[in-house]
Amino acid sequence: MSATSSDTMQQARERYAASLMNTFGPPKLQLVRGAGAHVWDADGNEYVDFLGGIAVNALGHAHPALVEAVTTQLSTLGHVSNFFTTEPQLALAEKLLELLGGGTPADGRVFFTNSGAEANEAAFKLTRRTGRTHVVATEGGFHGRTMGALALTSKEAYRAPFEPLPGEVTFVPYGDADALAAAVTDATAAILVEPIQGEAGVVVPPAGYLAAARAVADEHGALLWIDEVQTGMGRTGRWFASEGVRADIVTVAKGLGGGFPIGACIGLGEAGALLQPGNHGTTFGGNPVACAAGLAVIGTIEAEGLLERATVLGQKLRDGLTADPRVSEVRGEGLMIGLDLTAEAAAEVVAAGLRHGFVLNNTTPGRIRLVPPLVLTDDDADALLRAWPRILDDAYAAAGASDLEGS
Ligand SMILES: *Cc1c(COP(=O)(O)O)cnc(C)c1O
Repeated sequence: MSATSSDTMQQARERYAASLMNTFGPPKLQLVRGAGAHVWDADGNEYVDFLGGIAVNALGHAHPALVEAVTTQLSTLGHVSNFFTTEPQLALAEKLLELLGGGTPADGRVFFTNSGAEANEAAFKLTRRTGRTHVVATEGGFHGRTMGALALTSKEAYRAPFEPLPGEVTFVPYGDADALAAAVTDATAAILVEPIQGEAGVVVPPAGYLAAARAVADEHGALLWIDEVQTGMGRTGRWFASEGVRADIVTVAKGLGGGFPIGACIGLGEAGALLQPGNHGTTFGGNPVACAAGLAVIGTIEAEGLLERATVLGQKLRDGLTADPRVSEVRGEGLMIGLDLTAEAAAEVVAAGLRHGFVLNNTTPGRIRLVPPLVLTDDDADALLRAWPRILDDAYAAAGASDLEGS
C-alpha cells in the first residue's frame, strides 16, 4: 500500500488543513520516528533521509550524544534568561570562535539566536551601528523570512506581498565580482553573501569570489557578512565553507543544533563590539539546552570524523548520481549537493523518491538538492545510487518528459 494514500495520512492532511496555517502547502507525510539517516512514517514505511530537515539534522535522528546532552542539560538547568550565563553558553561561544580561528580562538563576539533568520536579523542591526545603511546582497540569495531578513532576500515572490521592506538594499548577480565592485560605495555598511547558495539549488560561485568580496569591502570600509546558515557546521566537509576568507560577520544556524533550534551571529574583530547594551536582545537565544545541543553536535562531528565523511560521501554521491544521463549538471561540496535534470521533473523526482523509500528535495522545477545527515552511511548512499535510475524512470514518465528534453 502506498504510504501517501493511507487513511492515516489522509486524516493527518485533513487535521493539518483545519488547524495549521497554509504557509507550507500540504505535508508530504506524517513522520513518527527517526534513527541515523532513516525516518519512518505513520504507516510504518521506512525512508532514507537525504533532506535532513533541510541541512539541519547533522547527526541524523536520535543520535545518542545529542539526546544525552539535551536530556542532561534539561534535567539540570533548562532556561535562565539573559540576566544570567551558563557553562554551555560560554563554552559554545568559545568553541565557535575557536572553529572560526582554525584552532586558535578568533577575536570576536557571539550573539545567540533561535533560528537563521534571527541570526541575520541581529547581523542586519549590527551593520546599522556602522552609521551606514546601504547593504549589497545577491540575486538568488536566501536569508530568512522576518522583515529584515526578507529585505535582504531577492526573490520577488517572497518579497512582493510584504513591501515596503526595511533598508536600502542593492541586489547584484551572484558570483559576479565586477558587479559587486560596481555596487559597493563608501556609503555601504555591508556586503552580504552565501559561500554557496542553498535555497537557489546549491549554486557555487567562481573560485576567488569571496576573496574578491573581501577586497571590495576593504576598499570601501564596508563589513563582509557571510551567511553560513546552510553551509556552516561541516555541511561542505569544512567547518565553514568560507574558510580562508576573513569575514566581519558570520551567521550560522541550521546544522548547529542538529535539530534543536539555535542560531548565532558572530561579529569578528571590531564588528564584535558594534552591538552595545540595549541594542538587541532575545528571551530564548543562548538557552543552555540549545547551547548544550550545539556543543554535542560539534563534539560528535570531531569525534566521528564527520568532516572527512562529508567530503568522501559527497564525492561518491556526486559521481554516482551524475552517471545517469538525465542529470545534466552536478554542483556543491561535501554533503551539499545540487543536481540539474534534463527535464523539469524535479517535483516528480521527489514524489518518486518517496515511493522508492527516499526523502529528496526539489528547489526549482529542474533542480534537486540533497543535504543529508553527515552520519549517512555508505549503505545509505549505495541504496540511493542503486534506486536512482528507477526513480528517474518513474519521474520522467510521470512528468511526460523525454530523457533528453531540454538538453
Ligand atoms: C535557511 C536559511 C536561512 C533562514 O534560516 P531559518 O532558520 O529558516 O530562519 C538563512 N540563510 C540561509 C543561507 C539559509 O539557508
